[in-house]
Amino acid sequence: SKPLEPVELNARVRNMMNLRARTLELQRLATTDSLTGANVRRHFFAQADTEFSRARRYNTPLSVMMLDVDFFKKVNDTYGHAAGDKVLVDVAAHCRHVIRDVDFLGRLGGEEFAICLPQTDAESARTVAERLRLAVEQSVVQDGDAEIRVTVSIGVAEAVADDPAVTAALNRADEALYKAKESGRNRVLVSD
Ligand code: GH3
Ligand code: MG
Ligand code: MG
Repeated sequence: SKPLEPVELNARVRNMMNLRARTLELQRLATTDSLTGANVRRHFFAQADTEFSRARRYNTPLSVMMLDVDFFKKVNDTYGHAAGDKVLVDVAAHCRHVIRDVDFLGRLGGEEFAICLPQTDAESARTVAERLRLAVEQSVVQDGDAEIRVTVSIGVAEAVADDPAVTAALNRADEALYKAKESGRNRVLVSD
């Protein structure tokens, strides 16, 4: 066959690049929560699993956090669902702001988030969690005339040698979160 004219070649390259861009966009849509930009649950667990295996292989620490907005139902009831959504976007933004590039955020459910921190021990994770707790406490979300303030409770756990999977550490973080709620909310609790 005869060689392509430059114009045809340009069109083909453009098509290929469009396809690549669309593939990437579809990938992003499948893995990212559209409201908060956090990883969706399934993708968070998959990524956390990968990091857990890596930590195991290289014998480095790994910590996880579970975060839940305190009395979030009251925010929805008082200011409406759209205002509640704004709060969730704000909380997710604070999460991203305090974590490092290698850490990642997942939205596990309605107002519940998880963070995976590779190469981080429990004490360093506690420092990050405390910084996050404080940032949310000091944050004000404007919704019309309303100024909305929320707090979060955070459970922290470090993966240990006996953990069969990252879910074991996440479960301990969840238990710590439950205790943080029970003992008054707006606090960080580290699993021991
Ligand atoms: P606690 O301090 O014990 O966590 O109390 P809470 O009110 O935050 O807990 P609860 O689980 O009772 O309430 C969670 C609420 O989150 C209930 C649900 O209506 C709301 N919710 C879940 N997903 C979304 C969402 O995407 N947007 C908004 N605005 N609200 C949501
Ligand atoms: Mg909840
Ligand atoms: Mg809650």
